[in-house]
Amino acid sequence: IPIEQLSDLVDELPPALQPPQPLPSVVILGRPNVGKSTLFNKLVGRRQAIVGDEPGITRDRHYGVVEWLGRSFELVDTGGIVPDEEAIIPANIFKQASRAIEEADLLLWVVDAREGITPLDEEIARHIHTTGKPVFVVANKVESAQVRTAAGEFYRFGFDRLFPVSAEHGTGTAELLDEILAVTNAPATAVRPSERIRVAVIGRPNVGKSSLVNAILGEERVIVSPIPGTTRDAIDTDLIHNGRPFTLIDTAGIRRKGRTTAMAEKLSVIMARKALARTDVAILLLDAVEGPTHLDEVIAGYALESGTSILIALNKWDLIKKDAHTASLYERQLRERVKFLDYAPAVFVSALTGQRVTRLLDLAARAYDARYRRIPTGELNRFFAEYLETPRATLPTNKPVKVHYVTQARSVPPTFVLFTNTTEKLHFSYVRYVENRLRENFDFFATPLRIVSRPRT
Ligand code: GDP
Ligand code: GDP
Repeated sequence: IPIEQLSDLVDELPPALQPPQPLPSVVILGRPNVGKSTLFNKLVGRRQAIVGDEPGITRDRHYGVVEWLGRSFELVDTGGIVPDEEAIIPANIFKQASRAIEEADLLLWVVDAREGITPLDEEIARHIHTTGKPVFVVANKVESAQVRTAAGEFYRFGFDRLFPVSAEHGTGTAELLDEILAVTNAPATAVRPSERIRVAVIGRPNVGKSSLVNAILGEERVIVSPIPGTTRDAIDTDLIHNGRPFTLIDTAGIRRKGRTTAMAEKLSVIMARKALARTDVAILLLDAVEGPTHLDEVIAGYALESGTSILIALNKWDLIKKDAHTASLYERQLRERVKFLDYAPAVFVSALTGQRVTRLLDLAARAYDARYRRIPTGELNRFFAEYLETPRATLPTNKPVKVHYVTQARSVPPTFVLFTNTTEKLHFSYVRYVENRLRENFDFFATPLRIVSRPRT
């Protein structure tokens, strides 16, 4: 089937007719710190594990489903199964993750191309050979031509395929995904948005997170059940708003006596990051009186990185003296500070008076729908032909690029692949332009879009 018809076919097949084929299993392994969980998150498309250096944060998620070009496979991160301290003995990796490795259709051996080959890598390679499984070597942290060249040394272990990537920046991952699909015979994706709209309220201390959650719960009379949070401090509540099921995640946490400001601030960041990992839509709450602060920017940065849909809510609006220009003045100030979240709409709310608090849920539902939206390839290409003609697709060198066709490779977040006549990257201004047109035309409300370009083969 030509690629341009693939996702149309998937869109048209009713879910019941889609074969209940088991998903192929792809298993990530490698020594600690090479970027396994970063790669896992990038490929799964949402932050399912927490990467970083806060001690005490457990990596409880190591299993996800990856969707690409209308097909899916299961991805397992053995780094989530074998703790770092134990993984420095390679035999432990193969013992503790033996089941995942036995069931694997393909192994992704992640190595750190910047550091090069280490004794631990040599030992892991020996173990991998004994499994007899197909192996892709994923040379991570390739962010310069020099490191790309150096990565070639990993061919020495005799595995056929090597993919230079940067899991952090997402470069090289499209090629990797293409090849994973090619070797694993991954089936077409069944349509399956998650049942509940998960909304997390994140923000620094005292912006009014718990007040907002209480205000929403006070307005919503159809509370299904308050359920204990899956993380230690966050509280999840299920509710129904306008006929749609939500889970509201409160990250305000338990207030403990004697907590210093610095501790509370740090905790607010940790809680935000944990919540983002399992959220469809984040409500980034700011204090309208104090205006955006540095800590707000830090939290906004994590929200951006997580790929969730984002609403910005300016709280305590009741305290602001207003005239006809106040809202636009505040919005302009906000956009200056968090330029990078330009797709996130701003809403002025008051947890105290309840002004617009339930409107946040309506907007969250709209963002959620955008997140899971699939645009059929035919429609997408008609739109491209009409509005996104070739002349704008210029490279930095001003050589015209021809976009042959475009397809939506996945949702969550919506990702589009532009097949062009060149291996060179598209100019960022063109990518921006495409993003904005897609967002307007197909109502990708409050949702980040990813645009990937590939030479047509
Ligand atoms: P794991 O122990 O193999 O799961 O590794 P992590 O995913 O936790 O990453 C280890 C460290 O490497 C973290 O500090 C990441 O931010 C960093 N890292 C991961 N991928 C990349 C990458 O592509 N480029 C760079 N420069 N750093 C990365
Ligand atoms: P959290 O730490 O982010 O959960 O913030 P809280 O919900 O505990 O609120 C911090 C303080 O701001 C409390 O004194 C609240 O009463 C107050 N507050 C919260 N929302 C509003 C609001 O919309 N208007 C006003 N005037 N005060 C608010």
